[in-house]
Amino acid sequence: MRFTEDRVPGLLERAFDRLLLRSARVAAVQRVSDRFRLIDLEGDALKGAAWAPGHKLQVKVAGPFTARTFTPIVFDAVRGHVRLLGYAHGAGPGSDWLRRVQAGDACQVFGPHRSLALGDLAGPVVLHGDETSFGLAAAVAAAMGARAQPRCVFEVESVDEATLALQALGINAALLVERRDEAGRKQAASGLWSQGSGDGTLFVLTGRAQSIQQARQALKGHGVPASCIVAKAYWAPGKTGMD
Ligand SMILES: Cc1cc2nc3c(=O)[nH]c(=O)nc-3n(C[C@H](O)[C@H](O)[C@H](O)COP(=O)(O)OP(=O)(O)OC[C@H]3O[C@@H](n4cnc5c(N)ncnc54)[C@H](O)[C@@H]3O)c2cc1C
Repeated sequence: MRFTEDRVPGLLERAFDRLLLRSARVAAVQRVSDRFRLIDLEGDALKGAAWAPGHKLQVKVAGPFTARTFTPIVFDAVRGHVRLLGYAHGAGPGSDWLRRVQAGDACQVFGPHRSLALGDLAGPVVLHGDETSFGLAAAVAAAMGARAQPRCVFEVESVDEATLALQALGINAALLVERRDEAGRKQAASGLWSQGSGDGTLFVLTGRAQSIQQARQALKGHGVPASCIVAKAYWAPGKTGMD
């Protein structure tokens, strides 16, 4: 078994890891595109964990104590298997890990833990997010099943690359807007309410903190009550390792 870095953890780090982290093995890595990786982890330590769509999993990507947060797409607590979609946006220990991780690597994780409270997902769902929200969209789509599918609006760096990743997950996005297209982003946020199907629609906002703020303001402006909006910032320019 290969570790993803050539570094021997110290005594304190090993004690911390043993106490708080679950040990897993990277079972498969699929290079979906230049920046997206579909990663399967497995291990007995993952068995029995409590998980629901929207929960987060922190992966130790470097040491000591450096973890980055992902959203499981599936979490099979009987088999001890979890699948994630990672987006290597650029420079950072999380992106570095995504680019170097290989099947057979050892891996340590913290969680799963609650992050977004999505309820029973019985009604219509609209998701607004970006590349970091694709895993969440897949988890929500799987939970909703044949009954209905979430309407997804994503702002992305590259529409071509995002399309590849969404195809790999079997998600049809209602709208993909390039992040650099400021007018298009604003329009997508202000029209977000119209993706819903009435009063019972749950709006789920994740991804870049500033985009969440814009989408939330726009929804409020169209009279969507706060109780129908759940939000969680997955990253913000200049902030590292948000969880
Ligand atoms: C609850 C939760 C669930 C998440 N789920 C997923 C998931 O399923 N898949 C996934 O890929 N990511 C997910 N993320 C986001 C991921 O944890 C962050 O993108 C993470 O910061 C990347 O780590 P890094 O080491 O590459 O960059 P960091 O060291 O954390 O940041 C370095 C710089 O890059 C910027 N940055 C961070 N992320 C992005 C980005 N996506 N695009 C552009 N710039 C960025 C930061 O603002 C900072 O300036 C989730 C985050 C949270 C909080």
